[in-house]
Amino acid sequence: MNEAYFKEVPLGEILSNKHVIPEMKSESKEAAIEELVALICEKGLIKDKGEALKRIFAREELASTALGDGIAIPHARLDVGKNPVIAIGRHKAGIDFNAPDRGDAHLIFLVLWQPERPGLFNRLFAGLVSRLADPNFRESLMNAKDAKTIANAVADVKVDMLAGRAAKWEADILVTLQLMEAKKSAGARGLKKKIELARDELPGSMLSRFDRLITRYGEALVEAPEGICQGCNMQLSSGLASEMQRNSDAVYVCEKCGRFIIHHIG
Ligand SMILES: [Zn+2]
Repeated sequence: MNEAYFKEVPLGEILSNKHVIPEMKSESKEAAIEELVALICEKGLIKDKGEALKRIFAREELASTALGDGIAIPHARLDVGKNPVIAIGRHKAGIDFNAPDRGDAHLIFLVLWQPERPGLFNRLFAGLVSRLADPNFRESLMNAKDAKTIANAVADVKVDMLAGRAAKWEADILVTLQLMEAKKSAGARGLKKKIELARDELPGSMLSRFDRLITRYGEALVEAPEGICQGCNMQLSSGLASEMQRNSDAVYVCEKCGRFIIHHIG
């Protein structure tokens, strides 16, 4: 499996309409995840249902995979062979997925992929995530008449480089990671696995900056209210400050001290 392959492949080559549940009936997040995992197990795409569930739930515990706007992308790394395994569930009534906007999830994309490359998930599905940011596209999925129509609608989604909403995801993981690092240095136990799980989600360059900052300052992320970095108390350039205003979900870097700056921590 290599990066280039995934970059060129449209989702239609991985996803079949047999992996779509157009009318989910589950009444909780856990039940919905189980419903989708049961489907891919039944279709022979994974063998170990228990292990898949264990990993997906561990990932959910770390930080909800609900993106808001009715979308959730529960996922985990599992040895599934060359191609990632995807299942889609549509829930018209909606299920509570601990979304940042507190809205229910209506479109659930379950994703499992080979535990080979750290940070792959974000690169893989940035294309999907940015398509889902379009309200018309979400509406067409909600109104699609059956599984086949849903599968066809996402079939041409191309895998692309990081963009927009995927960076919001990374910001959430960085915040969680910083919190766990702080707990760990305060002597908390049993965090090693969770920290590993969080680190697997991030690109290597972001992780090495994170590690350098933690070593140097004991913190890697700060806020910058009124355009002032709370790490070094310096004013951000007007270019950066206005960029932050335009897209408050993304992760930025202070030009003076190099700390990550995000709009709002926790
Ligand atoms: Zn700074």
